[in-house]
Amino acid sequence: MYLCTTVAALRCYLRLWQLEQSPIEPEVGLVPTMGALHSGHLALIERARQQNDFVIVSLFVNPLQFGPTEDFQKYPRHLEQDRQLCQEAGVNLIFSPSATELGLSTALESATTIVFPPQSMTSVLCGRSRIGHFQGVATIVTKLLNLIQPTRAYFGQKDAQQLAIIRRLVVDLNIPVEIVSCPTVRESSGLAKSSRNQYLTAEEKEQASVLYRSLRQAEFAFQAGERSSARLIAVTKLELATVQAIEPEYIELVDPTTLMPLQQIEEVGLLALAARLGTTRLIDNIILRNRQPIVAIDGPAGAGKSTVARQVAQALQLLYLDTGAMYRAVTWLVLESGISIEDEPAIAEIVSKCDIQLGMGDEPQAPIRVWIDGQEVTQAIRSLEITSHVSAIAAQTIVRQELVKQQQRWGEKGGIVIEGRDIGTHVFPDAELKIFLTASVQERARRRQKDLKNQGEADLSLEQMQQNLSERDWKDSNRNVAPLRKAPDAIEIQTDGLSIAEVTDRIITLYREKVEGQSSTLAN
Ligand code: AMP
Repeated sequence: MYLCTTVAALRCYLRLWQLEQSPIEPEVGLVPTMGALHSGHLALIERARQQNDFVIVSLFVNPLQFGPTEDFQKYPRHLEQDRQLCQEAGVNLIFSPSATELGLSTALESATTIVFPPQSMTSVLCGRSRIGHFQGVATIVTKLLNLIQPTRAYFGQKDAQQLAIIRRLVVDLNIPVEIVSCPTVRESSGLAKSSRNQYLTAEEKEQASVLYRSLRQAEFAFQAGERSSARLIAVTKLELATVQAIEPEYIELVDPTTLMPLQQIEEVGLLALAARLGTTRLIDNIILRNRQPIVAIDGPAGAGKSTVARQVAQALQLLYLDTGAMYRAVTWLVLESGISIEDEPAIAEIVSKCDIQLGMGDEPQAPIRVWIDGQEVTQAIRSLEITSHVSAIAAQTIVRQELVKQQQRWGEKGGIVIEGRDIGTHVFPDAELKIFLTASVQERARRRQKDLKNQGEADLSLEQMQQNLSERDWKDSNRNVAPLRKAPDAIEIQTDGLSIAEVTDRIITLYREKVEGQSSTLAN
């Protein structure tokens, strides 16, 4: 692990490292922090490690985001301990500059350039009392993103307002980075981990657990069908009032993307609160989502994912979100438009504007119906010409990025089964059920051989088939675009010796237990 404290060293290190990797463009994950690392930060680092080739953690107590009466001076600083934790967590580089090094040694009012996110997002929730805080956050995050130019940057859902503002910032300023949010890590009492918890005594920590308890009360009410903002806030307030030492600052229900106040929850709401306990200010939040579940199935080639996904969707009356059909539809559009499949900028033009719609087939076994820009292409995308070009199109980063965006839009409503290589880790990390479907190379080779025989195609030896699959596995795990990843919370199903029907049944049983067992969070 390397430690840089200056911009010059950071730039030099990254330039040399990138030269070394050339012509491969490695993926870089950035985890911005203010140090005093705890398991919440470590969860962000772990996610970054899973998704990138190189992980950078920044440790910087940003003076711009503290108000004049806030705890900038006393904020915990433990560089040596943080360095050790990063080392153990497999971080590749720490960037730990001084404020002077970043040109921020003076206060906000001084002559440094400040990034102002939309006022509608900075004047609500914590922004009411923390004047200038989010401008300070936006400024430092912009600087870090410009300096490091990571592929992805990781933020905790615990700071939901910060997350929404940064998502908006990278869109508005066209910063080419993917913002990844990670769930809040909590103590066993429910208290959200925070560097500021160090200020609390043991008794105060116990008292502070009421924050999450009160949010959970609102969640129970939501699960029981309550949708009114006023009533959900009242439930939260009532529970919070059971601990006298807690002084609530705000409890608000807003849209998690725009942060606009909600009268009631249609699809999703962010219930957020801040409270004081003695001199310590604490925040917490919860997402209340009125969405159908998502089943994500990942695994190596030949594990039977698409057949199983189709059957699981049918049995559970969910939509099989056939991503293969989406790539085929784009391929159809590219060929139809007369664009060369090597002309990536031209493909980027059309793929970022196209609209793909999917619908259930007329009969249970019928393929999914597909429309692109209003035109039905269900049949057309199955032609040999499309089959022979689709993998070249799907390998293009921009095609993949745009289609993932479209898939995630489908995911907002939920009610889908989707399969791939990184659905549970990347496309839908908050899917209700994640399956990792696998089988030994020998078994997959036997299945492939049988399939090919049934289709009357050329017969490869079992050894040759096994070798092909091993090579494919290696490529899929190491490819730049969407490498095969198993989510830590995915349930692995080893399918050697199991029929398709047995695998499907197992997934349906898991769904009934894990998703419907907690069915109260689902749409009614
Ligand atoms: P901070 O060091 O407090 O600025 O936090 C750095 C990053 O870690 C931010 O993206 C936070 O949202 C995230 N983070 C802090 N606490 C937690 C937690 N308990 N769970 C998950 N992420 C967290």
